[in-house]
Amino acid sequence: MTSPAGGPTAEATPPLRVTVLSGGVGGARFARGMRRHLARSGREAALTCIVNTGDDMWLNGLRVCPDLDSVMYGLAGVHDRDRGWGRADETERVSAELLAYGVGADWFTLGDLDLGTHIARSQMLREGLGLTEVTSRLSSRWDLGATLLPATEHSVETRVRVGDGPDDTLHFEEWWVRHRAAMPALGFEQAGADAAGPGPGVLEAIAEADLLVLAPSNPIVSIGTILGIPGLREAVRSASSPVVGVSPILGDAPVLGMAAQCLTAVGAEVSAAGVAEHYGARTRDGLIDGWLVDTKDAAAVDRLAGSGIAARAVPLLMSSDELAADMAAAAQALASSLRVAG
Ligand code: GDP
Ligand code: CA
Repeated sequence: MTSPAGGPTAEATPPLRVTVLSGGVGGARFARGMRRHLARSGREAALTCIVNTGDDMWLNGLRVCPDLDSVMYGLAGVHDRDRGWGRADETERVSAELLAYGVGADWFTLGDLDLGTHIARSQMLREGLGLTEVTSRLSSRWDLGATLLPATEHSVETRVRVGDGPDDTLHFEEWWVRHRAAMPALGFEQAGADAAGPGPGVLEAIAEADLLVLAPSNPIVSIGTILGIPGLREAVRSASSPVVGVSPILGDAPVLGMAAQCLTAVGAEVSAAGVAEHYGARTRDGLIDGWLVDTKDAAAVDRLAGSGIAARAVPLLMSSDELAADMAAAAQALASSLRVAG
């Protein structure tokens, strides 16, 4: 083939395939940052987010997928920036009616706009579509600039163990949202995981990625839940691209949420280095090659080198899309340096 000027046409550069493993709010912020970074770079890219489904539940006969919705609303730009979850300009008139009838869940806010999503999703599921197709149809309404893949289409529910008895477990959202984590978590279980497998496209999105990133999501009940689906951990371990993670812990605390309680429950240290070592180096039966810590945790870089993980210290607070994009750029730069070194 020749160009109009008669010279050979440059080989088209294939799109950069970026896959992010994501929970809800932290994952959504990072996904927005990654999308902006890729747009800024000018390189054609395909962004895929593999999203945790362990928090999904039925409420009032409707299928609610908190993390998928956080990422969809976040990428669509219709999320409530202050709360971090749900829709902007939301009202709760339907919930108030349900409560008046005595059938509402007063501990879980279902906004009116949000209910529209759950009704549409539930209708499609009842028509027999899988969650992946349903998510694709819901997403197609917006210009997300990314493909959202549920980690699994099976029901794999995160249960929080709060006692020794067979019935001493709670759905994760009940533990966290209803009881504000009042009962200490003794551990986390994935009900239904044994019979589950990755959702359509998930293994391909991991195997074919040029860049694989663990978002700064909850390492136990968001990323850990994804990795606990049979086949997922092995897929990440055998991915051909570098695997880079971003710390959700800055200093000795998460930016928000209950990651500290979750890490403590599984005996992991609540620190940027502790989370990286919880994931472990791929060269040592773990999952990650590289890890971003916040500049205030720069001392972790040397420690992690000893654990076989290449770490870099960069600002990790996603207080704007631009800063989140800088984080995503740092993740890609770290991965590139590992690819060259490897
Ligand atoms: P959830 O499913 O809604 O709980 O959200 P995720 O699991 O995706 O994300 C929760 C994690 O995001 C928490 O552990 C937070 O520490 C982390 N997070 C939220 N905002 C930021 C941020 O600005 N920077 C970093 N590094 N982590 C953040
Ligand atoms: Ca979640």
